Amino acid sequence: MSLSAIRHRIEAACRAAGRDADSVTLAAVSKNRTAADIAPLVAAGQKTFAENRVQEAAAKWPALRAAHPDIRLHFIGHLQSNKAGDAVALFDVIESVDRASLADALRHEMDRQNRNLPCYIQVNTGEEPQKGGVAPADLAGLLAHCRDAARLDIRGLMCIPPADEIPDMHFALLHKYARALGLPVLSMGMSSDFDTAIRYGATEIRVGTALFAADTPAA
Ligand SMILES: *Cc1c(COP(=O)(O)O)cnc(C)c1O
Repeated sequence: MSLSAIRHRIEAACRAAGRDADSVTLAAVSKNRTAADIAPLVAAGQKTFAENRVQEAAAKWPALRAAHPDIRLHFIGHLQSNKAGDAVALFDVIESVDRASLADALRHEMDRQNRNLPCYIQVNTGEEPQKGGVAPADLAGLLAHCRDAARLDIRGLMCIPPADEIPDMHFALLHKYARALGLPVLSMGMSSDFDTAIRYGATEIRVGTALFAADTPAA
């Protein structure tokens, strides 16, 4: 699907929800894509991109960013504390803060590099053992640590619903938590469910497959 087709779907979902179309940021998930795959999107005016591996991003983004300084790069994957330095150097937003030790490592690197990145806390709404994200019961405590001890600029929440469940309940939960904690940013919704996420208040959707996959010819 083309970038303009995705934008039209975002506009339609916003209209149906009584929201402004510019209240939703499209993050183009460029993991597993080459610089050559990404270039047409940049040329079409796409500004926000997201990657889930530090090393992969470090290999392809510095050159693209040098040529396009207005691009914003979000980190959306599991972040090992020993990669915090590389992540702080390369990204503009860290969406996957999910534990106190990582918050502390990010603080340390932000001080060292004199950079202050906005961050989101990733919530494991489905409480899946293999998945990143803080358990809902520990969210308020982690937010307090991030703010008071690590002095991170926490803007919002991010979630990845379980692949085998209808996402609605997870989007509704994340919306409820963000509202209760006074956090304005809600990063939720991917290729298969971003219209639904917008209905539940997503302010950022992360779309990869639908944006990059070749259009299948009409039958
Ligand atoms: C890959 C990925 C996406 C994009 O998923 P698609 O289904 O390809 O749109 C969104 N968020 C995260 C955290 C991802 O890893």
